[in-house]
Amino acid sequence: MTTQIETLQKLINEAKSIAFFGGAGVSTESGLPDYRSNTGTYTELEQQQLDPKKVMSKRFLMEHPEKFFNRPNTRKTPLLPKPNAAHLYLAELEKKGKDVRIITQNVDGLHQVAGSKLVIELHGNNRHFHCMKCGREYPYNEIQRDEQNIPRCPIDNGIIRADVILFGENLKPGVLDRAKKIMASSDLLIIAGTSLTVNPSKNLIHYFEGNHVVVINKTPLDLDLTVDLTIEGAVGEIFSQLSASSI
Ligand SMILES: [Zn+2]
Repeated sequence: MTTQIETLQKLINEAKSIAFFGGAGVSTESGLPDYRSNTGTYTELEQQQLDPKKVMSKRFLMEHPEKFFNRPNTRKTPLLPKPNAAHLYLAELEKKGKDVRIITQNVDGLHQVAGSKLVIELHGNNRHFHCMKCGREYPYNEIQRDEQNIPRCPIDNGIIRADVILFGENLKPGVLDRAKKIMASSDLLIIAGTSLTVNPSKNLIHYFEGNHVVVINKTPLDLDLTVDLTIEGAVGEIFSQLSASSI
């Protein structure tokens, strides 16, 4: 066990409440792409001469649904991704009685699959779907598509979409306030797998008033926040070295 892992373990053991603030890097070890790396979603779109901010926007969905729902996807992402060591460890901690609160920028729901009970999804999730006209909710396996492969509501022909926040859309009301409260009332903040370049997520960390801040990321972050411990590496691999037994 390296000194850094030992320090992280000690901080986790001593913390009363942990805010875990995660981004795409938390799920890459589950086979899901991040955004800005060589194999990231934005990079892939740019290689196809597409502007991510345009083709992943509400406006593009409304104006060109046939393109929005038929975007070429050259990556092989798993249909049912599985939680990795990071998701599983956090859920295990909570099960053992630790007050773990998760704020995630991811939409994959892997923290909930792992068993975490307090998960704030800043950007929504891709497990729930609703009709944009009437608001009816549809489970994935009941969604019908028209001849252009656009998911359609059988009642009013409205477009059915996932509950994810697209470019040009605001976060759901209340989500940011809940995240701020969690930040303000936790005593250990772990920032993991995020480049923290996007607002309002980026600003959230400034609501933290607790004792210790840990950053786990493949590349260093430039934060105007006092950081106690920085570990460079893959998030799941680092969490796989921790123990939940001493909590
Ligand atoms: Zn409808």
